[in-house]
Amino acid sequence: MSDPLREDLESIPRYVPGKAIPDAVKLSSNEVPYGPLPGVVEAITDAAETVHRYPDLGVVKLRGVLSQRLGLPVERIVTGTGSVALIGHLMQAIAKPGSEVVYSWRSFEAYPIAATIAGITSVQVPNTADHRHDIDAMIAAVGPDTRAIVICSPNNPTGPAVTADELDRVFAAVPEDVLVVIDEAYREFVTDPACPDAIERYADRPNAVVFRTFSKAWGLAGLRVGYMVARPGVADAVSRCVIPFAVNAAAQRAALAALEAEGEMRRRVALVTSERKRTVMAARELVPDVPDSQANFFWLPLGERAVEFAAHCEQRSILVRPFAGDGVRVTVGLPEENDAMLEALRAFVER
Ligand code: PMP
Repeated sequence: MSDPLREDLESIPRYVPGKAIPDAVKLSSNEVPYGPLPGVVEAITDAAETVHRYPDLGVVKLRGVLSQRLGLPVERIVTGTGSVALIGHLMQAIAKPGSEVVYSWRSFEAYPIAATIAGITSVQVPNTADHRHDIDAMIAAVGPDTRAIVICSPNNPTGPAVTADELDRVFAAVPEDVLVVIDEAYREFVTDPACPDAIERYADRPNAVVFRTFSKAWGLAGLRVGYMVARPGVADAVSRCVIPFAVNAAAQRAALAALEAEGEMRRRVALVTSERKRTVMAARELVPDVPDSQANFFWLPLGERAVEFAAHCEQRSILVRPFAGDGVRVTVGLPEENDAMLEALRAFVER
């Protein structure tokens, strides 16, 4: 009997989510610890009245508000079921036979998944010894079949963001028929003034593509809303690959409500970034070489002890995200949660 399934399925890596165990301290998925922003629960409740109807296919209101906020025409904004879905749709939209995509490694684990599903060859460029994108090596990896270079800033899971100087170099070096994709899922947490807002700085470049999400700072991870900004032709191409009704009605309403609560979002982000500073400084006393983080998580380069540390934390009901043989990503939580994690780290390195 012939098999109807693709022969290369084994080569599609599986996404490994951060663990969730009831009542544990959850520092495994880069969520914010404060619950929904004001107005969000009401918006979802309102949306519940009309769940027998399809949502607005064009996501007109939300895209309209984003367009005003960003100062960009609405046809340049595409929404999707989280930015992870849009990353997949972008790969589908650029998948010509033989296509390659360049990105750093280690970086967001959805990139190899999305590339492989779309039939694109991944060219992974190792990070520098201090866990940053190796921008010169990434530029050097761009070849005639490269359709896109993906820059994750801040980089999940290692934490550093790229600077304006680094991004300027990418735009100067890469031909215009190669998309420069900047994944800014954690943009709101960036405090280093050397690291630019890619929409502000590069939106006029014809090959710039920027991803943003409502999952992190805006606190809507469970509802799945992300968006992408690109030139109209690229935005149109990606929107053709989006599954119809990708952003549900509750998610559209909730994202609008979250945007109304921007002041509170900024206040929460400031709490997270100040906790980040404190926690990273304390962690550095226990583990050398914890890299700078511009996100709501940081990286413990524990190498072969990564999985062991995660298990040690789990015994204490603390969930972190190990990457076997490499390191552990720890989300910044509430002060007492961070203290519990630091205490676990101290016990681990001293044993
Ligand atoms: N990009 C990066 C760098 C991420 O870390 C994540 C979430 N882990 C995403 C995109 C996707 O986020 P979402 O699909 O929830 O918008």
